[in-house]
Amino acid sequence: MSDTHTTSLSPAQKKFLVDLFVDGVAFDPEVLRVYASDASLKVGTVLAMVRPVTTDQVCAFMCWAETENIAVHTRGRGTSLSGGCVPTVPGIVVSTLGLDRILHISHEDFVAEVEPGVSTSKLQMECEKLGMLCPPDPASAKATSVGGNVATCAGGLRAVKYGVTRDYVIGVEAVLPGGKLLRFGGRAHKDVIGLDLGRLFVGSEGSLGIITKLTLKLIPKPEASASVLVGYPSLDAALASMGKVFAAGILPCAVEFMNETVLEILTKTDSVPWPDTVKSLLLFQVDGSNDTVPFENARLSRQLHDALWRMEGVGKDEEDKIWAYRRRVSAASYILGPDRIGGDMAVPRGSILRAVRRFEEIAASNGKRLIAFGHAGDGNIHANLHYDASDPDDTRRTEKTHHELDAAALEFGGSLSGEHGAGCLKDVGKQLGKDEHALMRAVRRVFDPRGILNPGKGY
Ligand SMILES: Cc1cc2nc3c(=O)[nH]c(=O)nc-3n(C[C@H](O)[C@H](O)[C@H](O)COP(=O)(O)OP(=O)(O)OC[C@H]3O[C@@H](n4cnc5c(N)ncnc54)[C@H](O)[C@@H]3O)c2cc1C
Repeated sequence: MSDTHTTSLSPAQKKFLVDLFVDGVAFDPEVLRVYASDASLKVGTVLAMVRPVTTDQVCAFMCWAETENIAVHTRGRGTSLSGGCVPTVPGIVVSTLGLDRILHISHEDFVAEVEPGVSTSKLQMECEKLGMLCPPDPASAKATSVGGNVATCAGGLRAVKYGVTRDYVIGVEAVLPGGKLLRFGGRAHKDVIGLDLGRLFVGSEGSLGIITKLTLKLIPKPEASASVLVGYPSLDAALASMGKVFAAGILPCAVEFMNETVLEILTKTDSVPWPDTVKSLLLFQVDGSNDTVPFENARLSRQLHDALWRMEGVGKDEEDKIWAYRRRVSAASYILGPDRIGGDMAVPRGSILRAVRRFEEIAASNGKRLIAFGHAGDGNIHANLHYDASDPDDTRRTEKTHHELDAAALEFGGSLSGEHGAGCLKDVGKQLGKDEHALMRAVRRVFDPRGILNPGKGY
């Protein structure tokens, strides 16, 4: 990677950007402040923000940026929790929100062709109107872009049954540094010609090129769904019950868990319907046709017979009331401290209980409480630590805990990140072998020889 990126823009460079983007460019520090950070709350330095509305503009910009050796940080809606959009090396932020058209949704091909800035929830709604489902559904879907989902390989609540974003990307158009426009794949659901370079962009976190168009595979929208929230005396009992569900051959579309600390904060911040003997919760959803959902729901219920308490809902309105408890977790967590370090480690599904218990021990040994919840069906643990950044001792203990949790996740054969990505917060070298890491960096250099794309981020 080059360490000599341009650190300020000359009048001639600014003129180039104004000529190319006209109204879609900003240099005002007040405006740029927004683009200096993302949901990780880390802050970097933005030289300018540009908002292309055509692919031609992206090509011209990328040709110029490489020649001028200016760092380029692509940004969707900035909900990255790992600092994926933060310009840790001063550079130009390319907002994709001007490229926000749904180009086509085909009921015959079961595909959607979209520009990267399209809102995820808007695409989901448009597909559903036509009786189709775009399955990737990060909990943040109302606030994210499809391009951001693809660049992070977003997972979501339904991943246990439907997989993650990668499983639905069948076509990618992207612009490389130097301005070359590349197209991989297309509307055919199957394609094994050559290397799958299109899907290399999935999870690439803005390090290979700017994605300008995507083709996503769709599936028929399930007719019906049902959810059940079940309470147990401990996380051990809850996760033993989850094991029985999978062993019985049931495949829910979502399985979420919440540990004892989560229930404590939910109880302290609002009224809750479960008795105080309940210390841990599981949340299941099943979906399918009007005929199969009652049947699957009954099978699921039979496996959950040892629960202390349950709340069931069929159909969107009833289910929303149940899911509201899961949605409250992040906000309620701040009762434990005004600042947060979040983890989203993934471990093999069978290790989730041992991993959470180990994480809790590590937190306790540093005088911290661990908020653990997330996608139990995928072994994906949101392990959050709250602290007070104005207290140096609390900050030190929290950071130490966070590093120890990462190390423990790897000891379980897991990953530092199940879905949020490495961004600027994860030391991927801890997880990747030396040769594997070197190969990834070599691939990156093929796409971006001067290292202008999202430097300091990823791998
Ligand atoms: C409350 C909350 C809940 C969340 N829940 C989930 C969840 O359930 N599952 C999950 O996976 N994530 C979750 N996230 C994280 C985040 O929402 C996802 O990573 C999301 O996919 C990011 O989309 P975005 O449009 O905000 O992308 P951004 O944050 O803008 O960008 C993310 C990365 O993608 C790159 N990028 C964006 N667009 C392009 C493009 N067109 N070309 C090349 N690179 C690009 C950026 O450079 C950056 O590295 C959550 C975040 C929050 C705040």
